[in-house]
Amino acid sequence: MLNKVIEELVYYAKTHLELDDFDAIYIRNKLLAKFNQVEPYEGQIEKQGIKKLDVPDILIQALLSEYGKELDAHEEDSLVSEVMSLLSPMPSQVRERFNEKYNSSPEKATEYLYEISKNNYYVQKTKVLKNKVFTSRDGLEISINLSKPEKNNKDIAKLVGAVSTSYPKCVLCLENLGFEGNAKKAARQNIRFVPLNLGGETWYLQYSPYGYFNRHCIVFSEKHTPMIINRSNLSKLFDFVDMFPHFIIGSNSDLPITGGSILDHEHFQGGDHIFPMMKREVKETFESKKYPEVKIGLLDWYNSTIVLRSKNREDIINLTMNIIDKWYKYDNPDLDIISYEGEVRHNSITPILRKVGKEYLFYVMLRNNRQNDEYPDGIFHAHPEYHHIKKEGIGLIEAMGLFILPARLERQLPLVEGILENHIEPGNYLMMNPDLEPFVPMIEKLRRLEGNPHDLVQKELEDTCRGILDNTAVFKNDEAGRSAFIKFVEKAIK
Ligand SMILES: [Zn+2]
Repeated sequence: MLNKVIEELVYYAKTHLELDDFDAIYIRNKLLAKFNQVEPYEGQIEKQGIKKLDVPDILIQALLSEYGKELDAHEEDSLVSEVMSLLSPMPSQVRERFNEKYNSSPEKATEYLYEISKNNYYVQKTKVLKNKVFTSRDGLEISINLSKPEKNNKDIAKLVGAVSTSYPKCVLCLENLGFEGNAKKAARQNIRFVPLNLGGETWYLQYSPYGYFNRHCIVFSEKHTPMIINRSNLSKLFDFVDMFPHFIIGSNSDLPITGGSILDHEHFQGGDHIFPMMKREVKETFESKKYPEVKIGLLDWYNSTIVLRSKNREDIINLTMNIIDKWYKYDNPDLDIISYEGEVRHNSITPILRKVGKEYLFYVMLRNNRQNDEYPDGIFHAHPEYHHIKKEGIGLIEAMGLFILPARLERQLPLVEGILENHIEPGNYLMMNPDLEPFVPMIEKLRRLEGNPHDLVQKELEDTCRGILDNTAVFKNDEAGRSAFIKFVEKAIK
């Protein structure tokens, strides 16, 4: 009975989405009309059960099964997003409540936005919980991403001939607020985000729908302008942690390969998570005569990372600008580091910031995106021998030691284990699973090792993630790399 589900959804919104009794009359009528129902359900609903729900999944399932139409993935997302949006507070109401909560505590404000986003199904908590995460022996966090839906053939067929529009310009544009979506662009009717003032500009805070870590949020500019690392953006990171000291924040670099997937809209990523990198010690310390208050160290980490620690944010920013200035011009052909080819810059940084008490801890990770004949995908990018595990760019989340691996591995790795277990020859397993072709070298290597197949595959996965981080390090963790890194830092902090 559709009108019963509508009644349950309205009650859910009253208990989870701040729906006011007066507005409930209005919203009920909107939903009745939407689903062609002539009158509301008058019977009993399971109020206690609904009140206790952590997520709306079972109500959404009930709605979709009662609705009885054959919807494709996009139509289904769009319908759910529309209904959950109707049940949610208006964006301006979320903004007001967020600000009210902020006045009592920043944590309460971010929790409020998270609760709204989870309760209205924008953050799909159940799907996020499906992700498998484990910690490797050396502290890397490795996750197989099962939460992001993969397109099926029907969805792909719909894309053929679908009209491309430039509205909204990208998934991070402000105009996604309430956007219906289409075959090419995700429905965003139930998204809620709040404005922040960062460096005198309006930016917005939203949660990631497929959070890769606790309270994974995205902070994005009001304007659709390309990613850039400069003084103004660095100081926005500091503004953010001053406002929300319980969150870390970082920016991807402003170059392809070393950056994230979105380069044409300025944004940061943050959340409440201490990444593997942040648990590492400093192995080498330096002093800057110009900025004696800043403790400078090299992090004991795969990627070449300088840590700056101080209560004085201006000193850290000034020092970072010095480092950037020197790094953008730094060449060391012996280590394959070349800063420019013609007008094209290859050096960039990935900046990450957290606050510990009154001190700022700023991580400046040096990156380079140059490609050559040997490594057409990038010299400091996952090398081809690792592409069967991961070939996408290594952005800040992975560079900090949290690996998000593709969902296909959930199917492929157990197959590899079965092949090892049953001593199947390549010709035979490839006939059944041609997509295991890139795994042949790994399988043949593991076949020669002692141990049970599951443990061998697991260890190989960990070694691969570590190998990828070694690939992305501009100064390698060997004698030549270390001494060049030290020399570079000594010059850069002068
Ligand atoms: Zn945009």
